[in-house]
Amino acid sequence: MIQLKNIDKYYDAKFQRTFVLKGVNLDINQGEFVSIMGPSGAGKSTLLNIIGFLDEPNEGEYLFLDQPANQLKEKQKVQYHRSHIGFIFQAFHLIEEMNVYENIETPLVYRGVKGKERKALVAEMLDRFNIVAKKDLFPSQLSGGQQQLVAIARAIVGSPKLLLADEPTGNLHSEQGQMIMELLKKLNDEGMTIIQVTHSEENAKYGNRIVRLKDGYLKEDE
Ligand code: ADP
Ligand code: ADP
Repeated sequence: MIQLKNIDKYYDAKFQRTFVLKGVNLDINQGEFVSIMGPSGAGKSTLLNIIGFLDEPNEGEYLFLDQPANQLKEKQKVQYHRSHIGFIFQAFHLIEEMNVYENIETPLVYRGVKGKERKALVAEMLDRFNIVAKKDLFPSQLSGGQQQLVAIARAIVGSPKLLLADEPTGNLHSEQGQMIMELLKKLNDEGMTIIQVTHSEENAKYGNRIVRLKDGYLKEDE
């Protein structure tokens, strides 16, 4: 599903080049649940953003579903991002002015899904995550765990092939964090490919594979 070949990512300042990723190679198959670990500033988010078409490498090749990313036009990248990838973040990133229902519906609107089908898909998510009673509430009226549930519902409502999660439990109490990790595990058991960034060895164990980034280099656990 994902092939990263010799990826370099760097930033140029006046007199020096700072590497964030150096010669990163990574193959991820459909159905895997991969945890990316490493110290702060190691390049974890950058790697996740490249995989999710939110950032681009300076060198190397990225193939998603056998399609070389650098051959996609800007518009196609947005299309790819919207139709194949769900993203969740540490800080939820819900739209504060929209209620739960509208937040979950948003990606379907972007994708041009018709009204009736949208309704059915959002209802399915509300039901699945047991948040039907919350549908008219706004993000600020929910606990952190509930907000992350809504964020996950929004990320997967369009049945993406890949779910990317950047520290999905970073802002949650341990109990709510565990609930979210169990939910991700269940989604993976149902066939969704997941890549998460995490600081927690405990959370990493929910996945089937750990890769570690340090000083821009990637190393795989046995
Ligand atoms: P992590 O997720 O592992 O904490 P990041 O991928 O967020 O690491 O960042 C890796 C490094 O890239 C950091 O040192 C950060 O300062 C640097 N970086 C990120 N974005 C930029 C940018 N736009 N310009 C310069 N440096 C950046
Ligand atoms: P948790 O135990 O998951 O941390 P909270 O104690 O934060 O949950 O919230 C408990 C319940 O109160 C939730 O069902 C949530 O919807 C509701 N709630 C929390 N904050 C507000 C608020 N500001 N306005 C209305 N309802 C709220």
